Amino acid sequence: MFDRMKTNLQAEIQQIKNAGLFKEERILVSPQSAEITLKNGSKVLNFCANNYLGLSDHPRLIEAARKALKSHGFGMSSVRFICGTTDLHKILEQKISEYFGTDDTILYASAFDANGGVFEPLLSPKDAIISDSLNHASIIDGVRLCKAELYRYANANMEQLEERLIMSQEANYRMIVTDGVFSMDGNVAPMDEIVRLADKYDALVMVDECHSAGVVGPTGRGVTELFDLRGKVEIITGTLGKAFGGAIGGFTTGKKEIIELLRQRSRPYLFSNSLPPAVVSAGIEMFDMMNETHELQDRLHYNTKHFVSQMQAAGFDLKPTKSAICAVMLYDAVLAKNFADMLLNEGIYVVGFSFPVVPRGEARIRVQLSAAHTDAHLEKAIAAFTRVGKKLGVIGV
Ligand SMILES: *Cc1c(COP(=O)(O)O)cnc(C)c1O
Repeated sequence: MFDRMKTNLQAEIQQIKNAGLFKEERILVSPQSAEITLKNGSKVLNFCANNYLGLSDHPRLIEAARKALKSHGFGMSSVRFICGTTDLHKILEQKISEYFGTDDTILYASAFDANGGVFEPLLSPKDAIISDSLNHASIIDGVRLCKAELYRYANANMEQLEERLIMSQEANYRMIVTDGVFSMDGNVAPMDEIVRLADKYDALVMVDECHSAGVVGPTGRGVTELFDLRGKVEIITGTLGKAFGGAIGGFTTGKKEIIELLRQRSRPYLFSNSLPPAVVSAGIEMFDMMNETHELQDRLHYNTKHFVSQMQAAGFDLKPTKSAICAVMLYDAVLAKNFADMLLNEGIYVVGFSFPVVPRGEARIRVQLSAAHTDAHLEKAIAAFTRVGKKLGVIGV
């Protein structure tokens, strides 16, 4: 049997390669940081990690993880409800609720699982989900696992959202679902309008804060802070795998009864292993750090503003951003790939994105800023962009 399958798999892989879409993995041999070392020995500046606050190698998180290895061991070997819940898990859930101003929190192995397990327990075929067309793959998969009727609206398009709300008035419950920050453009969801429409049409709101938590808002508490809506949306999902230390882990936080039911019914929670204590302990330390100061957010916001204004001054075309994601628009797929390759030779690690990850004709380089970037790192990146941009005729000489 496998012989026939093997031939087809080989053909499919070849097709991916022919289309120029085959993803190679670049091997790091250093910790994740602003400066990383690749396997070939080259040291480069990293502008493509989700390490927004520079916490991936932070000494306080490493120490907190080390302590928990001693006190609570390596693995839990259990799901939460059998024997996989420690005092640390309960403390972390409490810290997350305090951070977002919500009632309660449930941890998952990832945000992919949080989104995969949130819809099916709460919504039935009588209900409707109204989803932004650019929502993350894990939301799309989570929606597929539930039988509610699906309506989609164009990215951040509030006229279309209102149309869908009018179309779906027969549904029992309606839930509007959106990413807080959209990962390809760096724009934020218009939460003020979304919540206004939800009130007007009596719908629930769920926001995925994976790219916004820790980043957006004066103290990094995400889009609900940015729009002054703390505690006002029913469901927030997020990850510990981006700004919050970058290890692993996700969560759903929100209304008490929703979280309580998820603990009883959410399949990725019931049927998948509990987070390791070292990760949970580092998470607790991380939220303590967030409560002490928002210096990291200040630095990140400064870095982003500085990068955007210098790049625009150099003549580059950037999508307007409200996050730490900056899309440097090149439009042409081959150009974007060559541009990224040449930047790597200049010691700047970024990735070019083209169709199908972004719309056809909208190829770009996505730059992700970090609080760990120094002024010197930014100057080096901007100078490299400028040199390569001139060489490739993207900006004038
Ligand atoms: C990264 C991301 C996820 C997945 O997070 P993991 O914890 O890595 O599974 C989910 N939603 C959004 C919007 C993301 O950006």
